[in-house]
Amino acid sequence: MAEIDRGLVEQILELKKVRKAIILAHNYELGEVQDIADFCGDSLELSQKAAVTDAETIVFCGVHFMAETAAILCPGKTVLLPDLHAGCPMANMITAEALREKKKEYPGATVVCYVNTSAAVKAESDVCCTSANAVKVVRKLGNTGEIIFIPDQYLGSWVAQETGKSLVLWPGYCPTHARILPEDIKKRKAEHPSAKVLVHPECRPETKLVADAVLSTGGMIRFARESDAREMILGTEIGIIHRLQKENPEKRFFPVSEQAICPRMKLITLETILWSLQSMRNVVTVPDDIRVKAQRAVNRMLEMS
Ligand code: SF4
Repeated sequence: MAEIDRGLVEQILELKKVRKAIILAHNYELGEVQDIADFCGDSLELSQKAAVTDAETIVFCGVHFMAETAAILCPGKTVLLPDLHAGCPMANMITAEALREKKKEYPGATVVCYVNTSAAVKAESDVCCTSANAVKVVRKLGNTGEIIFIPDQYLGSWVAQETGKSLVLWPGYCPTHARILPEDIKKRKAEHPSAKVLVHPECRPETKLVADAVLSTGGMIRFARESDAREMILGTEIGIIHRLQKENPEKRFFPVSEQAICPRMKLITLETILWSLQSMRNVVTVPDDIRVKAQRAVNRMLEMS
């Protein structure tokens, strides 16, 4: 692993005080970024943290929709995304316009949107969810009639299975998690027969079938901490291994597939964090008319979870 530039770290920490900033990082970010963050977590944990912070600036180390969610929840704060190219391909698989068309096919349906969507899509939705609370949110909707679940078909089909509800699914997916296949799990399991297999709900249904547990990244972090298992095989983006290994040095963690890398999550580096704090550029904003509607969907999720 490359040597971390201590000078760079010190400059970031110094500037962070001047800007009254907090650094939030997703569990898939580079190890060096996770290490400098004030808080690491999954999308739900990061939104909850953004909602309560008293920092004036939020440096969001994740992808664009996550920074937008922070901007939705914290209209008075400056939200920086150190690299604006960090977008989520799944979030780009649906637009507000396409969702409006779908809603015409199912008048009166409730729209549940995965947090991996743009603010404009959230504004067209009734309630938001993350992989950590999607089952809970859909269960709590009760018998509201038809539910359109967007945009992840694999998370959606898992929620349908867990809740026993029939959902109208959107054909989106995460290209990184779609690469994790049952054959890869079987291969790893043969190498580490006593390891527990944990996979993310964004994986394909056939991959989830051969896992011991289906968990969000936050759920995986808790499982690793609380379980007696000494070895775990992780079916998610490989960035999570950094945090798992750091927090549980006596346990061993193996990725199902070395191919499970999200290139967009690796764009943010110490250099771009420092640059954004110095220049206060790459501010993520959401127009007020969209923000107010999107906030309703996000707040409803936070209340329900
Ligand atoms: S891992 Fe998948 S869902 Fe997450 S940001 Fe990357 S492409 Fe999007």
